[in-house]
Amino acid sequence: MRRPSPTGRPAGRPAAGGRAPRPRDAQPEQLGFDGMPERLFVCTPSKLGAYADCPRRYRYTYVDRPAPPKGPPWAHNSLGASVHTALKNWYALPVDRRRPEVLPTLLKGTWVRDGYRDDEQEREVYRRALGWLEAYVDGLDPADEPVGVERVVAVKTGVLAFNGRADRIDGRAGSDGPELVIVDYKTGRTGLDADDARGSQALALYAYAAERVFRRPCRRVELHHLPSGTVAAHDHTVESLARQVSRAEETARDIMAAERTVADGGDPDEAFPTTPGPRCAWCDYRRTCPAGATLPGKEPWAAVDRPAAPPTEQD
Ligand code: SF4
Repeated sequence: MRRPSPTGRPAGRPAAGGRAPRPRDAQPEQLGFDGMPERLFVCTPSKLGAYADCPRRYRYTYVDRPAPPKGPPWAHNSLGASVHTALKNWYALPVDRRRPEVLPTLLKGTWVRDGYRDDEQEREVYRRALGWLEAYVDGLDPADEPVGVERVVAVKTGVLAFNGRADRIDGRAGSDGPELVIVDYKTGRTGLDADDARGSQALALYAYAAERVFRRPCRRVELHHLPSGTVAAHDHTVESLARQVSRAEETARDIMAAERTVADGGDPDEAFPTTPGPRCAWCDYRRTCPAGATLPGKEPWAAVDRPAAPPTEQD
């Protein structure tokens, strides 16, 4: 169900702090049972997650054009991107060059510098990240070739045209034959457990899509937390993956209904309400959003300095 608006703004009033949303670009269509074309909702895990977290943030990110200005880049996103790219490039090397000695070159080569407080903090975080990578590759067999590294998988359902980029897709021997495993790297400071792996809609959608793309069972999902060197895993069933897909479809229907409301002249603030909370301190649109603007924000480097990190797209 679409959330009610906390603003109480009457229909037709312009969006506070934002621009009037436009309908999205043309979407793929398929024929419904009655012969009428039905639009599929084109989405990534980030897109669905943005709406689930806060419909207003979704609107600022995906609907309003031009998009409102974002805040400055976050150091924790830079860190996450740097580590992800280093691991991607590790697997791009020939097997005999996948050695710990190459890690400083890999990490330096694609290090993202944005968001740090100063050079000293950036150097300290670089050393931290290098230590994570050294410990992580120490536990890898360099001869292992994943089925996919930063591999895009896509699938269509009756509602969704889903696509997403999985950090890694491993091929492993399962009890019933070869199977695939979705691996997601995490660099946040917060520890992760099996409930995080079980509850991750993104991982479930990757698994659902990978199974169809590669025509091989893909039920296991793993969160590899580099700072702690731990792996949080969950083994899905056909039914649990189907439940996650249904939830994603439900979110997609809510989003399409909100966008239709706006296209029909409804109040964009009401269609995409704010959901203020602790997450606002880390929101890129806090300065634009009427709810977020009243709340204290975080410094761009706060999450790499402090034990409590926010959820991020890159971590
Ligand atoms: S500041 Fe908070 S309420 Fe506003 S868009 Fe961001 S997350 Fe949503």
